[in-house]
Amino acid sequence: MEIKKGIGVSPGVVISTAVVLDAEDVVIPRRNIEPDQVPAETERLGNAIAQSVVELTKLRDSTTAEHGKQIGQIFDFHLGVLRDRTLTNQILAEISQNNTTAEYAVSVVMRRQANRFLQMPNSYLAERVKDIHDQERRLLRSLVGNRRQDLAHLDQDVVVIAHDLLPSQTAALDRVHVRGFACDVGGATSHTAIVARAMGIPAVVGLGNLTGTVSGGDTVVIDGTRGVVIVNPDADQLVEYREFERKRSRLEVELSLLRDLPAETTDGHSISMQANIEFPSDIDDALRRGAQGIGLYRTEFLYLSQDHEPSEDEHYAAYAEALRRLEGRPLVLRTMDLGADKYTEKQAQNPERNPFLGERSIRMCLHDIPMFKRQLRAIMRASVLGDMRIMFPMISTLMELRQAKMVLNDVVEEMEDEGIPFRRDIPIGIMIEVPAAALMANQFAKEVNFFSIGTNDLVQYTLAVDRTNERVAGLFCPAHPAVLGLIRDVIRAGVRAGIGVSVCGEMAGEPLYTLLLLGLGLTTFSMNGPDVPEVKKIIRSTSTEHARNVARRVMTFDSERQVMHFLREETRKIVPEAF
Ligand code: PEP
Ligand code: MG
Repeated sequence: MEIKKGIGVSPGVVISTAVVLDAEDVVIPRRNIEPDQVPAETERLGNAIAQSVVELTKLRDSTTAEHGKQIGQIFDFHLGVLRDRTLTNQILAEISQNNTTAEYAVSVVMRRQANRFLQMPNSYLAERVKDIHDQERRLLRSLVGNRRQDLAHLDQDVVVIAHDLLPSQTAALDRVHVRGFACDVGGATSHTAIVARAMGIPAVVGLGNLTGTVSGGDTVVIDGTRGVVIVNPDADQLVEYREFERKRSRLEVELSLLRDLPAETTDGHSISMQANIEFPSDIDDALRRGAQGIGLYRTEFLYLSQDHEPSEDEHYAAYAEALRRLEGRPLVLRTMDLGADKYTEKQAQNPERNPFLGERSIRMCLHDIPMFKRQLRAIMRASVLGDMRIMFPMISTLMELRQAKMVLNDVVEEMEDEGIPFRRDIPIGIMIEVPAAALMANQFAKEVNFFSIGTNDLVQYTLAVDRTNERVAGLFCPAHPAVLGLIRDVIRAGVRAGIGVSVCGEMAGEPLYTLLLLGLGLTTFSMNGPDVPEVKKIIRSTSTEHARNVARRVMTFDSERQVMHFLREETRKIVPEAF
């Protein structure tokens, strides 16, 4: 048994079987075994080789039948690698002499062999390195269990253990059977954490070398509430966590009773509860939790879930589906926000030195107008199908906003010429997530129909804290008075100009900040679906007057600790079971 402490980024507890992702292209972490486990590891290796030989023979035979003997022969070399006694003996020696797992031994020996080939002057042999890597993967697949590409279609519940999960990987996960995440690195507002919260599954990040401790098939407890991961728990811990799981599901049932009740303060002020989504298929669940519409649709996940840039028709199909599922409820569609920690395979090949401060989001769109236009055209085509609004992310200058609007104008003029219908008065808004935009909120308010405050990035850029870096996770805090001052001023600027203001960062879904945001005059909250009931409960338990008093007091504090302590006390007074 091993207990590891990290950062809990999505609450709840799950006990399940581990799938370790790092076998794909990262060195398998060294994991030592007891000497008496050597025979078992040797047997695992033997089984894996036998299974791989069967797979390859089948592949060779079917390829020969379909494409001829010459092509089929390629697999003979692969079979030769697996049957090579010298190689097998080296792997066995690694297991027995160094007391390592079979997967670690395979990885070490095969990579050593590949390097030997790579150094050979004979280019034919050097080319065979790829084949060796291929066989290494095949053996690891058999030893470690489910693979990354299989994670889209699982037939049993698992928890995913990874060094890091890219948004493109989380996008492709089986949403029914993946029951929890745990990663070596990451922070609370990294997109992996956000996706875990949207899926309503526990997640812990920043665990250091967890992948070096867990093997595929181990039983793992992920406690996202306390930020703890237990590998191979003992019987007492299993009992404790099963009870915890039961309590949590009882609470969920209680909260679900709130779904059809209005999000209204005790003095009758209605608050709009919106949800954040990554895919149109997330909408039904968000509505089931009580959301009244979608306040943030992260459309970049469309780019991340496939290996090519979406065509105009693919964009259109996704937006039309979202509007259909919403049945007239509002949809705030954010234009593509790639870059920083969300990048495609192609972008990964050409990384930026400092991607959070680089060609991200709207900057990328304005550098590739044809791509931007493809998305805007699809949005405008879908705009006649429901209550759609457009939101531009990462705006930091007025010029950027004006350019984006100009591109949109070009698009609609072209559509007009072609006789394609679109909604002329589609509301246009921006995300306020860069301090420069927050400080110029009065000027921006004159040129848009709404603001949505993206606190994840606003905190990151105001406090100079990378939202994905576990080393500085303790400094990432929305309660910092500097951040609160910006939020207050943006809400004020919106109210003064008569435009809508929402908060769509993770802060909106954290019950700790509900009273404060209400008191600052916020009337629209957009959050992950699973957070809706708890936030609604707090809204229904306070008057606007009380929330205003709380906010007034909070704004006199000069430290985030004071702010959080006070908010916790005040919230517990009205909802004792909160947190
Ligand atoms: C934000 O920055 O707060 C936000 C909602 O956008 P994202 O998390 O997608 O960057
Ligand atoms: Mg953002």
